[in-house]
Amino acid sequence: MLTDSHNRIHNYLRISLTDKCNLRCSYCNPVDLPKGYCSGKTKMSAEEINSIIRVFVGEGVNKIRLTGGEPLLRKDAKEIIRLISKYPVEISLTTNGVFVHEYIDVFKEAGIKSVNVSLDSLDEKTNLFISGRNEFHRVKNNIELLLKNEIRVKVNMVVIKNVNHHEIPDFVEWTKNEPIQVRFIEFMPFSGNLWSKEKVFSRHEMLELISSSYNFLKLSDEKHQTSAKYFIPEFRGSFAIISTMSEPFCSECNRMRLTTDGKMKNCLFSKNEADILGAFRRGEDIVPIIRLCLASKEEFLGGQFTHIYESTDASQINNRSMINIGG
Ligand code: SAM
Repeated sequence: MLTDSHNRIHNYLRISLTDKCNLRCSYCNPVDLPKGYCSGKTKMSAEEINSIIRVFVGEGVNKIRLTGGEPLLRKDAKEIIRLISKYPVEISLTTNGVFVHEYIDVFKEAGIKSVNVSLDSLDEKTNLFISGRNEFHRVKNNIELLLKNEIRVKVNMVVIKNVNHHEIPDFVEWTKNEPIQVRFIEFMPFSGNLWSKEKVFSRHEMLELISSSYNFLKLSDEKHQTSAKYFIPEFRGSFAIISTMSEPFCSECNRMRLTTDGKMKNCLFSKNEADILGAFRRGEDIVPIIRLCLASKEEFLGGQFTHIYESTDASQINNRSMINIGG
Protein backbone atom coordinates (compact mmCIF):
# COMPACT_ATOMS: atom_id res chain seq x y z
CA MET A 1 0.00 0.00 0.00
CA LEU A 2 1.28 3.44 -0.89
CA THR A 3 0.36 5.88 1.87
CA ASP A 4 1.39 9.50 2.22
CA SER A 5 2.21 11.29 5.47
CA HIS A 6 -1.43 12.44 5.76
CA ASN A 7 -2.65 8.81 5.83
CA ARG A 8 -4.09 8.93 2.34
CA ILE A 9 -3.82 5.61 0.52
CA HIS A 10 -2.76 6.03 -3.12
CA ASN A 11 -4.01 3.35 -5.51
CA TYR A 12 -4.62 5.45 -8.63
CA LEU A 13 -1.96 6.25 -11.24
CA ARG A 14 -2.45 8.63 -14.16
CA ILE A 15 0.06 8.20 -16.96
CA SER A 16 0.73 10.73 -19.68
CA LEU A 17 1.44 8.88 -22.93
CA THR A 18 2.53 11.98 -24.83
CA ASP A 19 2.87 15.71 -24.30
CA LYS A 20 1.65 16.37 -27.85
CA CYS A 21 -1.91 17.31 -28.70
CA ASN A 22 -3.78 17.94 -31.93
CA LEU A 23 -5.85 20.69 -30.23
CA ARG A 24 -4.73 24.10 -28.97
CA CYS A 25 -6.98 24.77 -25.98
CA SER A 26 -5.52 27.92 -24.48
CA TYR A 27 -6.05 26.84 -20.86
CA CYS A 28 -4.00 23.67 -21.41
CA ASN A 29 -1.77 24.07 -24.46
CA PRO A 30 -1.34 27.80 -25.01
CA VAL A 31 -0.26 28.70 -28.58
CA ASP A 32 2.79 30.67 -27.47
CA LEU A 33 3.95 27.99 -25.03
CA PRO A 34 7.47 26.83 -25.96
CA LYS A 35 6.88 23.27 -27.13
CA GLY A 36 9.15 21.01 -25.12
CA TYR A 37 7.96 17.84 -26.77
CA CYS A 38 9.57 14.73 -25.38
CA SER A 39 11.70 13.12 -28.03
CA GLY A 40 12.06 9.39 -28.65
CA LYS A 41 14.76 9.06 -26.01
CA THR A 42 13.31 11.20 -23.22
CA LYS A 43 9.86 9.66 -23.25
CA MET A 44 9.00 6.35 -21.65
CA SER A 45 8.84 3.55 -24.21
CA ALA A 46 5.90 1.14 -24.22
CA GLU A 47 8.08 -1.51 -22.57
CA GLU A 48 9.28 0.95 -19.91
CA ILE A 49 5.69 1.98 -19.17
CA ASN A 50 4.82 -1.70 -18.83
CA SER A 51 7.70 -2.39 -16.43
CA ILE A 52 7.10 0.72 -14.32
CA ILE A 53 3.39 -0.08 -14.05
CA ARG A 54 4.27 -3.58 -12.85
CA VAL A 55 6.09 -1.97 -9.90
CA PHE A 56 3.18 0.39 -9.09
CA VAL A 57 0.71 -2.53 -9.26
CA GLY A 58 2.95 -4.46 -6.87
CA GLU A 59 2.58 -1.50 -4.49
CA GLY A 60 -1.21 -1.62 -4.56
CA VAL A 61 -2.22 0.46 -7.59
CA ASN A 62 -5.47 -0.90 -9.03
CA LYS A 63 -6.65 2.00 -11.16
CA ILE A 64 -4.80 3.47 -14.15
CA ARG A 65 -5.84 6.36 -16.37
CA LEU A 66 -4.08 7.12 -19.64
CA THR A 67 -3.93 10.78 -20.49
CA GLY A 68 -1.65 13.36 -22.05
CA GLY A 69 -1.36 15.55 -24.21
CA GLU A 70 -3.69 13.52 -26.35
CA PRO A 71 -3.02 9.85 -25.45
CA LEU A 72 -4.55 8.52 -28.68
CA LEU A 73 -2.02 10.50 -30.76
CA ARG A 74 0.73 8.19 -29.62
CA LYS A 75 1.58 5.70 -32.37
CA ASP A 76 1.93 2.73 -30.01
CA ALA A 77 -1.11 3.62 -27.85
CA LYS A 78 -2.83 0.37 -28.87
CA GLU A 79 0.17 -1.69 -27.80
CA ILE A 80 0.34 0.16 -24.46
CA ILE A 81 -3.38 -0.36 -23.80
CA ARG A 82 -2.99 -4.07 -24.54
CA LEU A 83 0.05 -4.37 -22.25
CA ILE A 84 -1.75 -2.63 -19.36
CA SER A 85 -4.87 -4.74 -19.79
CA LYS A 86 -2.88 -7.75 -18.52
CA TYR A 87 -2.77 -6.25 -15.01
CA PRO A 88 -5.55 -6.54 -12.42
CA VAL A 89 -6.42 -2.86 -12.75
CA GLU A 90 -9.34 -0.74 -13.87
CA ILE A 91 -8.16 1.08 -17.01
CA SER A 92 -9.66 4.34 -18.16
CA LEU A 93 -8.71 7.13 -20.46
CA THR A 94 -9.10 10.89 -20.86
CA THR A 95 -9.19 12.01 -24.48
CA ASN A 96 -10.32 14.89 -26.64
CA GLY A 97 -12.34 12.29 -28.56
CA VAL A 98 -11.02 13.07 -32.03
CA PHE A 99 -9.47 9.63 -32.69
CA VAL A 100 -11.81 7.45 -30.63
CA HIS A 101 -13.33 5.74 -33.70
CA GLU A 102 -9.90 4.20 -34.46
CA TYR A 103 -9.69 2.65 -30.98
CA ILE A 104 -13.13 1.21 -30.18
CA ASP A 105 -12.02 -2.39 -30.83
CA VAL A 106 -8.93 -2.12 -28.64
CA PHE A 107 -10.95 -0.42 -25.86
CA LYS A 108 -13.37 -3.35 -25.87
CA GLU A 109 -10.59 -5.92 -26.07
CA ALA A 110 -8.85 -4.28 -23.08
CA GLY A 111 -12.06 -4.17 -21.04
CA ILE A 112 -12.21 -0.37 -20.87
CA LYS A 113 -15.63 0.45 -19.44
CA SER A 114 -15.46 4.22 -19.15
CA VAL A 115 -13.88 7.05 -21.15
CA ASN A 116 -13.69 10.75 -20.30
CA VAL A 117 -14.09 12.97 -23.36
CA SER A 118 -13.31 16.68 -23.23
CA LEU A 119 -15.72 19.06 -24.92
CA ASP A 120 -15.97 22.67 -23.81
CA SER A 121 -18.84 23.93 -25.90
CA LEU A 122 -21.94 22.64 -27.66
CA ASP A 123 -21.62 25.45 -30.16
CA GLU A 124 -19.37 24.71 -33.14
CA LYS A 125 -17.93 28.22 -33.36
CA THR A 126 -17.20 28.54 -29.64
CA ASN A 127 -15.63 25.13 -29.73
CA LEU A 128 -13.34 26.19 -32.56
CA PHE A 129 -12.49 29.39 -30.66
CA ILE A 130 -11.51 27.43 -27.52
CA SER A 131 -9.77 24.43 -29.08
CA GLY A 132 -8.26 26.11 -32.16
CA ARG A 133 -9.36 23.18 -34.33
CA ASN A 134 -12.62 22.31 -36.05
CA GLU A 135 -13.32 18.85 -34.63
CA PHE A 136 -16.70 19.44 -32.99
CA HIS A 137 -18.76 16.99 -35.08
CA ARG A 138 -16.16 14.25 -34.94
CA VAL A 139 -16.07 14.48 -31.13
CA LYS A 140 -19.89 14.47 -30.85
CA ASN A 141 -20.07 11.44 -33.19
CA ASN A 142 -17.40 9.62 -31.23
CA ILE A 143 -19.29 10.19 -27.97
CA GLU A 144 -22.28 8.51 -29.66
CA LEU A 145 -20.02 5.69 -30.85
CA LEU A 146 -18.73 5.04 -27.32
CA LEU A 147 -22.28 4.93 -25.97
CA LYS A 148 -23.38 2.60 -28.76
CA ASN A 149 -20.56 0.28 -27.72
CA GLU A 150 -21.74 0.41 -24.11
CA ILE A 151 -18.72 2.35 -22.89
CA ARG A 152 -19.70 4.91 -20.24
CA VAL A 153 -18.89 8.51 -21.14
CA LYS A 154 -18.04 11.40 -18.87
CA VAL A 155 -17.83 14.70 -20.72
CA ASN A 156 -15.31 17.15 -19.26
CA MET A 157 -16.09 20.83 -19.76
CA VAL A 158 -13.60 23.40 -18.48
CA VAL A 159 -15.75 26.35 -17.48
CA ILE A 160 -14.29 29.79 -18.12
CA LYS A 161 -16.28 32.84 -17.10
CA ASN A 162 -17.53 34.89 -20.04
CA VAL A 163 -16.25 32.31 -22.52
CA ASN A 164 -18.52 29.30 -22.06
CA HIS A 165 -20.10 29.50 -18.58
CA HIS A 166 -23.47 30.41 -20.11
CA GLU A 167 -23.56 26.98 -21.80
CA ILE A 168 -23.78 25.07 -18.52
CA PRO A 169 -27.59 24.72 -18.76
CA ASP A 170 -27.24 23.41 -22.35
CA PHE A 171 -24.85 20.73 -21.14
CA VAL A 172 -27.29 19.82 -18.35
CA GLU A 173 -30.09 19.63 -20.92
CA TRP A 174 -27.94 17.22 -22.97
CA THR A 175 -28.17 14.72 -20.08
CA LYS A 176 -31.95 14.56 -20.43
CA ASN A 177 -31.86 11.96 -23.19
CA GLU A 178 -28.25 10.78 -23.13
CA PRO A 179 -26.83 8.52 -20.39
CA ILE A 180 -23.71 10.66 -20.00
CA GLN A 181 -22.26 12.46 -17.01
CA VAL A 182 -21.14 15.99 -17.78
CA ARG A 183 -18.46 17.32 -15.47
CA PHE A 184 -18.03 21.04 -15.05
CA ILE A 185 -14.40 21.77 -14.15
CA GLU A 186 -13.32 25.02 -12.52
CA PHE A 187 -10.54 26.70 -14.48
CA MET A 188 -7.16 25.93 -12.86
CA PRO A 189 -3.84 27.81 -13.12
CA PHE A 190 -0.92 26.22 -14.98
CA SER A 191 2.17 27.61 -16.59
CA GLY A 192 1.38 29.92 -19.50
CA ASN A 193 -2.42 29.62 -19.39
CA LEU A 194 -3.17 33.23 -18.35
CA TRP A 195 -5.30 32.14 -15.39
CA SER A 196 -6.92 34.84 -13.32
CA LYS A 197 -9.50 34.70 -10.55
CA GLU A 198 -11.91 36.67 -12.76
CA LYS A 199 -12.03 33.76 -15.22
CA VAL A 200 -13.08 31.22 -12.57
CA PHE A 201 -16.76 30.34 -12.53
CA SER A 202 -17.06 28.68 -9.14
CA ARG A 203 -19.06 25.67 -8.06
CA HIS A 204 -21.34 27.99 -6.12
CA GLU A 205 -22.02 30.08 -9.24
CA MET A 206 -22.57 26.94 -11.33
CA LEU A 207 -25.16 25.58 -8.91
CA GLU A 208 -26.92 28.93 -8.80
CA LEU A 209 -27.09 29.05 -12.60
CA ILE A 210 -28.33 25.47 -12.92
CA SER A 211 -30.94 25.94 -10.20
CA SER A 212 -32.53 28.77 -12.17
CA SER A 213 -33.69 26.18 -14.75
CA TYR A 214 -33.64 22.80 -13.02
CA ASN A 215 -34.55 21.07 -9.78
CA PHE A 216 -31.70 18.73 -9.03
CA LEU A 217 -30.64 16.42 -6.23
CA LYS A 218 -27.18 15.61 -4.93
CA LEU A 219 -25.90 12.06 -5.19
CA SER A 220 -24.18 10.72 -2.09
CA ASP A 221 -20.44 11.25 -1.92
CA GLU A 222 -18.16 8.35 -2.80
CA LYS A 223 -14.76 7.42 -1.38
CA HIS A 224 -11.93 9.24 -3.16
CA GLN A 225 -14.38 11.42 -5.02
CA THR A 226 -12.97 14.39 -6.87
CA SER A 227 -16.32 15.77 -7.91
CA ALA A 228 -19.71 16.45 -6.36
CA LYS A 229 -22.40 14.63 -8.33
CA TYR A 230 -25.99 15.66 -9.00
CA PHE A 231 -28.98 14.34 -10.91
CA ILE A 232 -32.32 15.52 -12.16
CA PRO A 233 -35.13 13.01 -11.68
CA GLU A 234 -36.28 11.65 -15.08
CA PHE A 235 -33.02 12.59 -16.81
CA ARG A 236 -30.98 9.68 -18.21
CA GLY A 237 -27.62 11.26 -17.38
CA SER A 238 -26.21 13.28 -14.52
CA PHE A 239 -23.83 16.15 -13.90
CA ALA A 240 -20.88 16.75 -11.60
CA ILE A 241 -18.71 19.65 -10.51
CA ILE A 242 -14.95 19.51 -10.04
CA SER A 243 -14.29 22.41 -7.72
CA THR A 244 -10.51 22.26 -7.40
CA MET A 245 -10.28 26.02 -6.95
CA SER A 246 -13.16 26.89 -4.62
CA GLU A 247 -13.66 23.60 -2.75
CA PRO A 248 -10.80 21.19 -3.41
CA PHE A 249 -11.05 17.47 -2.66
CA CYS A 250 -7.48 17.03 -1.38
CA SER A 251 -8.45 15.08 1.76
CA GLU A 252 -9.83 12.33 -0.51
CA CYS A 253 -6.90 12.30 -2.94
CA ASN A 254 -5.58 8.88 -3.99
CA ARG A 255 -3.80 9.98 -7.18
CA MET A 256 -0.26 9.98 -8.46
CA ARG A 257 0.96 11.03 -11.90
CA LEU A 258 3.69 9.97 -14.29
CA THR A 259 4.65 12.47 -16.95
CA THR A 260 5.62 11.45 -20.50
CA ASP A 261 9.29 11.77 -19.53
CA GLY A 262 8.81 9.46 -16.57
CA LYS A 263 8.75 11.97 -13.71
CA MET A 264 6.41 11.20 -10.81
CA LYS A 265 4.25 14.02 -9.49
CA ASN A 266 2.47 13.35 -6.21
CA CYS A 267 -0.07 16.11 -6.96
CA LEU A 268 -1.24 18.01 -10.03
CA PHE A 269 0.24 21.12 -8.41
CA SER A 270 3.41 19.63 -6.91
CA LYS A 271 6.61 21.61 -7.45
CA ASN A 272 8.82 18.59 -6.97
CA GLU A 273 9.12 15.59 -9.24
CA ALA A 274 10.85 12.25 -8.78
CA ASP A 275 12.81 10.90 -11.74
CA ILE A 276 11.35 7.40 -11.95
CA LEU A 277 12.43 6.77 -15.54
CA GLY A 278 16.02 7.89 -14.88
CA ALA A 279 16.31 5.54 -11.88
CA PHE A 280 14.66 2.71 -13.82
CA ARG A 281 17.14 3.11 -16.68
CA ARG A 282 20.05 3.03 -14.24
CA GLY A 283 18.73 -0.29 -12.97
CA GLU A 284 17.82 1.07 -9.52
CA ASP A 285 14.95 -0.15 -7.38
CA ILE A 286 12.23 2.47 -7.95
CA VAL A 287 10.04 1.46 -4.99
CA PRO A 288 11.91 3.61 -2.41
CA ILE A 289 11.82 6.55 -4.84
CA ILE A 290 8.04 6.20 -5.31
CA ARG A 291 7.53 5.98 -1.54
CA LEU A 292 9.75 8.95 -0.79
CA CYS A 293 7.98 11.03 -3.43
CA LEU A 294 4.61 10.19 -1.90
CA ALA A 295 5.81 10.81 1.65
CA SER A 296 6.59 14.40 0.66
CA LYS A 297 3.07 15.05 -0.68
CA GLU A 298 1.64 18.29 0.64
CA GLU A 299 -1.75 18.22 2.35
CA PHE A 300 -3.42 20.69 -0.04
CA LEU A 301 -2.89 21.73 -3.66
CA GLY A 302 0.81 20.94 -3.80
CA GLY A 303 1.38 23.50 -1.02
CA GLN A 304 1.20 26.21 -3.69
CA PHE A 305 -2.13 27.91 -2.96
CA THR A 306 -5.32 27.51 -0.92
CA HIS A 307 -9.03 27.18 -1.57
CA ILE A 308 -9.30 30.97 -1.20
CA TYR A 309 -8.54 31.06 -4.89
CA GLU A 310 -9.28 34.77 -5.13
CA SER A 311 -5.95 35.41 -3.41
CA THR A 312 -3.93 33.11 -5.71
CA ASP A 313 -1.07 34.76 -7.54
CA ALA A 314 -0.67 32.47 -10.57
CA SER A 315 2.77 33.95 -11.37
CA GLN A 316 4.09 32.50 -8.09
CA ILE A 317 2.98 28.93 -8.89
CA ASN A 318 5.88 26.76 -9.90
CA ASN A 319 4.61 24.05 -12.24
CA ARG A 320 4.52 22.74 -15.79
CA SER A 321 1.76 23.56 -18.23
CA MET A 322 -1.16 21.10 -18.08
CA ILE A 323 -0.23 19.54 -21.43
CA ASN A 324 3.23 18.77 -20.03
CA ILE A 325 1.87 17.22 -16.84
CA GLY A 326 -0.96 15.04 -18.11
CA GLY A 327 -4.38 15.98 -16.85
N1 SAM B 1 -6.12 15.47 -24.46
C1 SAM B 1 -6.96 14.85 -23.48
C2 SAM B 1 -8.24 15.63 -23.30
O1 SAM B 1 -8.45 16.62 -24.01
O2 SAM B 1 -9.04 15.24 -22.48
C3 SAM B 1 -6.30 14.56 -22.15
C4 SAM B 1 -5.44 15.58 -21.54
S1 SAM B 1 -6.26 16.98 -20.89
C5 SAM B 1 -4.89 17.81 -20.17
C6 SAM B 1 -7.13 16.32 -19.52
C7 SAM B 1 -8.19 17.17 -18.92
O3 SAM B 1 -7.63 18.30 -18.30
C8 SAM B 1 -9.20 17.69 -19.93
O4 SAM B 1 -10.51 17.37 -19.55
C9 SAM B 1 -8.97 19.17 -19.89
O5 SAM B 1 -10.11 19.86 -20.20
C10 SAM B 1 -8.49 19.39 -18.47
N2 SAM B 1 -7.76 20.64 -18.28
C11 SAM B 1 -6.67 21.05 -18.95
N3 SAM B 1 -6.27 22.27 -18.54
C12 SAM B 1 -7.12 22.64 -17.56
C13 SAM B 1 -7.23 23.80 -16.75
N4 SAM B 1 -6.40 24.81 -16.87
N5 SAM B 1 -8.22 23.85 -15.84
C14 SAM B 1 -9.09 22.81 -15.72
N6 SAM B 1 -9.04 21.69 -16.45
C15 SAM B 1 -8.06 21.60 -17.38
